[in-house]
Amino acid sequence: MQLYPEHPVGENTRAFLERAGRMLIGADWVGAASGETLAVIDPASGETFARVAAGDAADVDRAVAAARKAFEHGEWSRVRPVDRERLLLRLADLMEENAQELAEIEALDNGKPVTMARHVDVALAIDFMRYMAGWATKIEGSTMEVSVPLVRDREFFGFTRREPVGVVGAIIPWNFPLLMAAWKVGPALATGCTMVLKPAEETPLTALRFGELVLEAGYPAGVLNIVPGLGHTAGAALAGHPGIEKVAFTGSTEIGKLVGKAALDNMTRVSLELGGKSPVIVLDDADPAVAAAGAAQAIFFNQGQVCTAGSRLFIHKSRFDDVVEGLSGIAAGMKIGPGIDPSTQIGPLVSSVQQKRVMGYIDSGFEEGARAATGGAAGDGLGFFVKPTVLVDVRDDMKVVREEIFGPVVVALPYEDLDEVARRANDTPYGLAASIWSNDLSRVHRLIPKIKAGTVWVNCHNMLDSAMPFGGYKQSGIGREMGRAVIDLYTESKSVVMML
Ligand code: ADP
Repeated sequence: MQLYPEHPVGENTRAFLERAGRMLIGADWVGAASGETLAVIDPASGETFARVAAGDAADVDRAVAAARKAFEHGEWSRVRPVDRERLLLRLADLMEENAQELAEIEALDNGKPVTMARHVDVALAIDFMRYMAGWATKIEGSTMEVSVPLVRDREFFGFTRREPVGVVGAIIPWNFPLLMAAWKVGPALATGCTMVLKPAEETPLTALRFGELVLEAGYPAGVLNIVPGLGHTAGAALAGHPGIEKVAFTGSTEIGKLVGKAALDNMTRVSLELGGKSPVIVLDDADPAVAAAGAAQAIFFNQGQVCTAGSRLFIHKSRFDDVVEGLSGIAAGMKIGPGIDPSTQIGPLVSSVQQKRVMGYIDSGFEEGARAATGGAAGDGLGFFVKPTVLVDVRDDMKVVREEIFGPVVVALPYEDLDEVARRANDTPYGLAASIWSNDLSRVHRLIPKIKAGTVWVNCHNMLDSAMPFGGYKQSGIGREMGRAVIDLYTESKSVVMML
């Protein structure tokens, strides 16, 4: 099968697409207990190009049992930190050896430009695995000079241990399928946990290829289990499973709340990385051309399907027209096409559902009086394309300004002073990220503490680093992934007090 004869994929990608379709339980690739399968759709054409097992509660049970066995009794329970480090480094090497294949699979499955998949998704996933490998040997407790005031005539010694939290259920979204898998699997493997991973139903393929690499790297059976399936079946079964100790979820705020409630019923630890409506704030000293290019990258990267997308563009009124003109020019010039074409800058959205959702938002903006400076329409052809869109004449109370659109749509809003823009930037239930565009250090520093967001970028946007904690204020989530902070999410602290 050759999906795009003019953009042929590698032999390994073709071979994977032919064999893909089963789920990973223990060390075995198996079909769903129900025998059901899910269609995998190419978002650039709307055609089904693969099918995968559709896992449900019965499969989640099997996967949790395999993960439990590996955690409690298997070889993995005795693996030393140094071996966890070595295994993660080996896995990262295998990902690097297969980087082009992973990028091609991601581009076909999600629709994103293959060049971006290779240099962002796959590159960051590899980097994060190496970063987490380093942590495997650096997990520490502390010793304490405990007094135990109740017993004055004896001496005590106290220390804490950090222990792997146990079996983790990870539920991930479709916007960065491999990278989100890596964000969950990396810390689980570094800390000694085991995992059941449920990829998004729209984009199960790279997780399955990653599962093959995990086995090839030499991980014991059951350390990573992968159950593709629908959210309300497989996802819900995993989130509410009494046999897991932690749920790590990335997705919408709406589903995150359901997942959090299901987890709380079993007192399962939970970390949630949810939606956003991140402000991009352009101060009056910013160069309009630089700000326009930055704003374009902030919103159009990954077709705007980014939880940190800079979807509200606040521009000082003295710069408003220049920045909007620059941004609209960039948007209008972006090359739209299938992700597998290396020259594509804007691929299709992930699904027809997502395309309809985004077009619905754009139409609601028009109904409320907004105007498109550029875009504002679906793309041509059968794929799920939406043209990069800049909306002006918007008010803070419009739906397009308040709700997460998760598409290539930015609203541009003028402002007059810093207190005003800080207030309006924070006037949202979300608090994931923000960016400030200015070289005026004093004003930038004064603004940073006022912004209620887990990440603030200055003169850049969407710049991630494995060492930087990532997560949200308010309804953008609970917990911080990456950096030192992620170790806390995948470990329990045990306090030990010894009477000497
Ligand atoms: P989006 O709106 O971007 O599609 P979702 O939050 O719906 O994001 O999906 C993120 C992940 O959550 C996906 O893997 C999806 O299958 C899963 N999911 C959806 N509904 C549920 C649910 N009720 N319980 C658990 N997981 C779910």
